[in-house]
Amino acid sequence: MALKKRSNYALQTYGGTNLKKISEVVTVFDRDLLMLADDMVKIMHKLNGIGLAAVQIGIYKRLIVLDIAQSSMGNPPTPGELQLLPQMPMALVNPEIVEYGSEIIPYDEGCLSVPEVYAQVMRPRTVKVKAQTLNGETIEFECGGLLARCIQHEVDHLNGTVFVDRLTEEVKSLVRNELSALERRGKRFDYQRNIRL
Ligand code: ZN
Repeated sequence: MALKKRSNYALQTYGGTNLKKISEVVTVFDRDLLMLADDMVKIMHKLNGIGLAAVQIGIYKRLIVLDIAQSSMGNPPTPGELQLLPQMPMALVNPEIVEYGSEIIPYDEGCLSVPEVYAQVMRPRTVKVKAQTLNGETIEFECGGLLARCIQHEVDHLNGTVFVDRLTEEVKSLVRNELSALERRGKRFDYQRNIRL
Protein backbone atom coordinates (compact mmCIF):
# COMPACT_ATOMS: atom_id res chain seq x y z
CA MET A 1 0.00 0.00 0.00
CA ALA A 2 1.40 3.36 -1.00
CA LEU A 3 -0.45 5.40 1.55
CA LYS A 4 2.37 7.49 2.95
CA LYS A 5 1.68 11.20 3.38
CA ARG A 6 -1.41 11.27 1.28
CA SER A 7 -3.25 14.55 1.33
CA ASN A 8 -5.84 13.87 -1.35
CA TYR A 9 -8.63 11.36 -1.20
CA ALA A 10 -11.70 10.76 -3.33
CA LEU A 11 -14.97 10.44 -1.43
CA GLN A 12 -17.09 7.90 -3.29
CA THR A 13 -20.67 9.01 -3.76
CA TYR A 14 -24.01 7.32 -4.18
CA GLY A 15 -24.76 5.73 -7.52
CA GLY A 16 -21.21 4.68 -8.39
CA THR A 17 -20.10 1.06 -8.52
CA ASN A 18 -17.19 1.50 -6.07
CA LEU A 19 -19.51 1.67 -3.06
CA LYS A 20 -20.85 -1.77 -4.06
CA LYS A 21 -17.47 -3.48 -3.77
CA ILE A 22 -16.84 -5.94 -0.95
CA SER A 23 -13.93 -4.89 1.24
CA GLU A 24 -11.09 -7.25 2.07
CA VAL A 25 -10.12 -8.55 5.50
CA VAL A 26 -7.18 -6.67 7.02
CA THR A 27 -4.31 -9.03 7.84
CA VAL A 28 -1.40 -6.63 8.21
CA PHE A 29 -1.41 -4.33 11.23
CA ASP A 30 1.33 -1.89 10.33
CA ARG A 31 2.12 1.78 10.24
CA ASP A 32 0.27 2.24 6.95
CA LEU A 33 -2.91 1.02 8.62
CA LEU A 34 -2.43 3.48 11.48
CA MET A 35 -1.89 6.34 9.05
CA LEU A 36 -4.91 5.37 7.00
CA ALA A 37 -7.11 5.28 10.10
CA ASP A 38 -5.71 8.65 11.14
CA ASP A 39 -6.53 10.17 7.75
CA MET A 40 -10.00 8.65 7.85
CA VAL A 41 -10.67 10.32 11.20
CA LYS A 42 -9.53 13.64 9.70
CA ILE A 43 -11.80 13.18 6.70
CA MET A 44 -14.75 12.20 8.92
CA HIS A 45 -14.24 15.29 11.07
CA LYS A 46 -13.80 17.56 8.06
CA LEU A 47 -17.13 16.37 6.69
CA ASN A 48 -18.84 16.44 10.10
CA GLY A 49 -19.56 12.72 10.06
CA ILE A 50 -19.78 10.26 12.94
CA GLY A 51 -18.59 7.24 10.98
CA LEU A 52 -16.59 6.41 7.85
CA ALA A 53 -15.65 3.15 6.15
CA ALA A 54 -12.47 2.88 4.06
CA VAL A 55 -14.51 1.90 0.99
CA GLN A 56 -16.04 5.38 1.07
CA ILE A 57 -12.64 6.77 0.09
CA GLY A 58 -12.05 4.00 -2.42
CA ILE A 59 -9.87 1.80 -0.22
CA TYR A 60 -11.33 -1.69 -0.02
CA LYS A 61 -10.17 -2.76 3.43
CA ARG A 62 -12.36 -3.75 6.34
CA LEU A 63 -11.58 -0.66 8.39
CA ILE A 64 -14.03 1.83 9.89
CA VAL A 65 -13.65 4.88 12.09
CA LEU A 66 -16.24 6.25 14.48
CA ASP A 67 -16.75 9.36 16.55
CA ILE A 68 -19.86 8.92 18.64
CA ALA A 69 -20.52 11.56 21.30
CA GLN A 70 -20.61 10.46 24.92
CA SER A 71 -23.90 12.37 25.18
CA SER A 72 -25.50 9.71 22.95
CA MET A 73 -24.98 7.13 25.69
CA GLY A 74 -28.17 5.15 26.22
CA ASN A 75 -29.96 4.98 29.55
CA PRO A 76 -29.08 2.50 30.83
CA PRO A 77 -25.88 2.35 28.81
CA THR A 78 -24.80 -0.91 27.19
CA PRO A 79 -21.39 -2.48 27.96
CA GLY A 80 -20.11 -1.55 24.49
CA GLU A 81 -21.06 2.10 24.89
CA LEU A 82 -19.38 2.22 28.31
CA GLN A 83 -16.26 0.64 26.86
CA LEU A 84 -15.97 2.47 23.55
CA LEU A 85 -17.51 5.95 23.84
CA PRO A 86 -14.72 7.25 26.13
CA GLN A 87 -12.18 6.17 23.46
CA MET A 88 -13.68 8.15 20.58
CA PRO A 89 -12.62 8.86 17.90
CA MET A 90 -11.56 5.29 17.27
CA ALA A 91 -11.03 2.72 14.55
CA LEU A 92 -12.37 -0.82 14.30
CA VAL A 93 -10.67 -3.35 12.05
CA ASN A 94 -12.52 -6.31 10.53
CA PRO A 95 -15.71 -5.52 12.47
CA GLU A 96 -18.50 -8.06 12.24
CA ILE A 97 -21.93 -8.38 13.78
CA VAL A 98 -21.99 -11.74 15.52
CA GLU A 99 -25.46 -11.43 17.02
CA TYR A 100 -28.52 -9.26 16.35
CA GLY A 101 -30.98 -8.23 19.06
CA SER A 102 -34.60 -9.12 18.37
CA GLU A 103 -36.04 -5.62 18.77
CA ILE A 104 -36.13 -3.68 15.48
CA ILE A 105 -36.37 0.11 15.66
CA PRO A 106 -36.53 3.03 13.19
CA TYR A 107 -33.88 5.75 13.04
CA ASP A 108 -33.14 8.51 10.54
CA GLU A 109 -29.79 7.74 8.94
CA GLY A 110 -27.54 9.82 6.74
CA CYS A 111 -24.24 9.05 5.01
CA LEU A 112 -21.25 11.09 3.87
CA SER A 113 -21.49 9.26 0.54
CA VAL A 114 -25.17 10.21 0.20
CA PRO A 115 -25.01 13.90 1.13
CA GLU A 116 -28.10 15.78 2.27
CA VAL A 117 -30.29 12.67 2.28
CA TYR A 118 -31.77 11.45 5.56
CA ALA A 119 -34.26 8.63 5.76
CA GLN A 120 -35.68 6.15 8.22
CA VAL A 121 -34.01 2.75 8.36
CA MET A 122 -35.20 -0.19 10.45
CA ARG A 123 -32.46 -2.08 12.28
CA PRO A 124 -31.96 -4.08 15.48
CA ARG A 125 -31.63 -1.89 18.57
CA THR A 126 -28.72 -3.92 19.93
CA VAL A 127 -25.95 -5.98 18.36
CA LYS A 128 -23.01 -8.01 19.51
CA VAL A 129 -19.84 -6.99 17.68
CA LYS A 130 -16.51 -8.67 17.20
CA ALA A 131 -13.64 -6.58 15.86
CA GLN A 132 -9.95 -5.89 16.11
CA THR A 133 -8.12 -2.80 17.26
CA LEU A 134 -5.40 -1.15 15.19
CA ASN A 135 -2.91 -3.31 17.13
CA GLY A 136 -4.66 -6.48 16.04
CA GLU A 137 -6.15 -7.19 19.46
CA THR A 138 -9.58 -8.85 19.28
CA ILE A 139 -12.44 -7.20 21.16
CA GLU A 140 -16.04 -8.28 21.53
CA PHE A 141 -18.86 -6.23 22.99
CA GLU A 142 -22.62 -5.86 23.07
CA CYS A 143 -23.93 -2.40 22.30
CA GLY A 144 -27.02 -0.34 21.69
CA GLY A 145 -27.79 3.31 21.10
CA LEU A 146 -26.20 5.37 18.36
CA LEU A 147 -23.06 3.23 18.56
CA ALA A 148 -24.98 0.09 17.52
CA ARG A 149 -26.71 2.00 14.75
CA CYS A 150 -23.48 3.45 13.41
CA ILE A 151 -21.54 0.17 13.49
CA GLN A 152 -24.32 -1.60 11.57
CA HIS A 153 -24.29 1.18 8.96
CA GLU A 154 -20.50 1.00 8.56
CA VAL A 155 -20.35 -2.81 8.44
CA ASP A 156 -22.94 -2.57 5.65
CA HIS A 157 -20.47 -0.41 3.70
CA LEU A 158 -17.81 -3.12 4.02
CA ASN A 159 -20.27 -5.51 2.40
CA GLY A 160 -21.13 -3.14 -0.46
CA THR A 161 -24.42 -1.92 0.98
CA VAL A 162 -25.48 1.70 1.54
CA PHE A 163 -28.40 2.66 3.78
CA VAL A 164 -30.46 3.62 0.73
CA ASP A 165 -30.50 -0.09 -0.21
CA ARG A 166 -32.34 -0.78 3.05
CA LEU A 167 -35.17 1.74 2.63
CA THR A 168 -38.72 0.51 2.16
CA GLU A 169 -40.30 1.58 -1.13
CA GLU A 170 -42.50 3.97 0.80
CA VAL A 171 -39.59 5.71 2.52
CA LYS A 172 -37.52 5.67 -0.65
CA SER A 173 -40.24 7.52 -2.51
CA LEU A 174 -39.87 10.38 -0.01
CA VAL A 175 -36.24 10.95 -1.02
CA ARG A 176 -36.51 9.97 -4.69
CA ASN A 177 -35.88 13.49 -6.00
CA GLU A 178 -32.78 13.98 -3.87
CA LEU A 179 -31.41 10.60 -4.94
CA SER A 180 -32.02 11.39 -8.62
CA ALA A 181 -30.17 14.69 -8.21
CA LEU A 182 -27.24 12.86 -6.59
CA GLU A 183 -27.19 10.35 -9.45
CA ARG A 184 -27.08 13.15 -12.02
CA ARG A 185 -24.27 14.93 -10.18
CA GLY A 186 -22.47 11.61 -9.75
CA LYS A 187 -22.52 10.91 -13.48
CA ARG A 188 -20.83 14.24 -14.16
CA PHE A 189 -18.10 13.75 -11.55
CA ASP A 190 -17.46 10.00 -11.85
CA TYR A 191 -19.25 9.47 -8.50
CA GLN A 192 -16.39 11.06 -6.62
CA ARG A 193 -15.68 14.20 -4.71
CA ASN A 194 -12.14 15.34 -3.93
CA ILE A 195 -11.19 15.70 -0.27
CA ARG A 196 -8.03 17.61 0.55
CA LEU A 197 -6.62 17.15 4.04
ZN1 ZN B 1 -22.36 5.69 5.19
